Amino acid sequence: MRAVVYSSYGELPVVREVAEPECPADGVVIAVAATGVCRSDWHAWRGHDPVALPHVPGHEFAGVILERGSQVDGFAVGDRVTAPFVCGCGRCELCLSGNAQVCPEQTQPGFTGPGSFAERVVIHGAEVNLVRLPDSVDFVAAAALGCRLATAFRAVTVHGRLAKGQWLAVYGCGGVGLSAVLVGVALGARVVAIDPHPAALDRARQLGVERCLSVGDDAGMKHLGPVPIDQAVRDIIDGGAHVTLDAVGSPVIAATAVRSLRRRGRHVQVGLLLGEDAMTALPMNVVIAQELEIYGSHGMAAVDYPAMLDLITSGLLQPERLIGSVIGLEEAGEALAAMDAGTTTGITVIDLARIATGSTMSDGAPTTVT
Ligand SMILES: [Zn+2]
Ligand SMILES: [Zn+2]
Repeated sequence: MRAVVYSSYGELPVVREVAEPECPADGVVIAVAATGVCRSDWHAWRGHDPVALPHVPGHEFAGVILERGSQVDGFAVGDRVTAPFVCGCGRCELCLSGNAQVCPEQTQPGFTGPGSFAERVVIHGAEVNLVRLPDSVDFVAAAALGCRLATAFRAVTVHGRLAKGQWLAVYGCGGVGLSAVLVGVALGARVVAIDPHPAALDRARQLGVERCLSVGDDAGMKHLGPVPIDQAVRDIIDGGAHVTLDAVGSPVIAATAVRSLRRRGRHVQVGLLLGEDAMTALPMNVVIAQELEIYGSHGMAAVDYPAMLDLITSGLLQPERLIGSVIGLEEAGEALAAMDAGTTTGITVIDLARIATGSTMSDGAPTTVT
């Protein structure tokens, strides 16, 4: 089969023939119809999050079951499905309590094994990890669910407990940040978006944010310097935000987001803090004095997808609005490399049925990579 492969970190990934995957007894082989290009793929490709080389990236996908293992019940060949980027073992205490997203035996296609930038991908523990797609959700839109929208949905609803009329401050308007904006607006919350890139803020505005804050410069939000962005957020929202989200993964942003909360507010850390950023300092004096809550959020288990799918089939949440560009498999390597430059406006989705003819926008506007 054809797959996007890289053999060393930072080398431009290319499409080549690789061996067909074997179907595990507890799993399935899925014919990939569409798969998203995510910053986590970029982190792995850059060597920030090591993988076994050579490697096939890709962890947010939708497709059709092509082959089913002998132990799998409840799903059939031909079913339209997706899966979370964290797949649980299905046997441990955490999986059995509905928390497969933190399973110690978890597998992650595109990280612990070959991913979905390929014609076919394997999912282990299929009964626990597969999510059946409603007919009304097409494959390209569904490719946005597995990682960023699901992660944002759980961060905002389960950890953030964001209610109608409350304020959400989203730091960073890449894929997961825009997903959080979309979820917040769908829930009837008021949203402030913070990003250094005007194109990303325009996208956030189109999705319904009430206020935008343009911060930093071309160096990006990781270099806010002395700009008191937390004060700017508290100036917009009297008392500060009910919920903040660091969708970038930066010590400066995480601390700034915490400082922009109102008393008893909730900060959710979604952006990865890797390497030298792992030991991130937070203003714990403020956390204590104002009784703030700090959460880490790591995807969403398949068992929690129905609430999100209900919001989608009701029309309130429209994942297709997150899509910035749709490309072919041959363009995947360059799309990954383009993330070196920072934020893209919306999610890039690889449509396996598409021949490489250049990218197009879902809404007819030109693709902008900032
Ligand atoms: Zn488990
Ligand atoms: Zn992802």
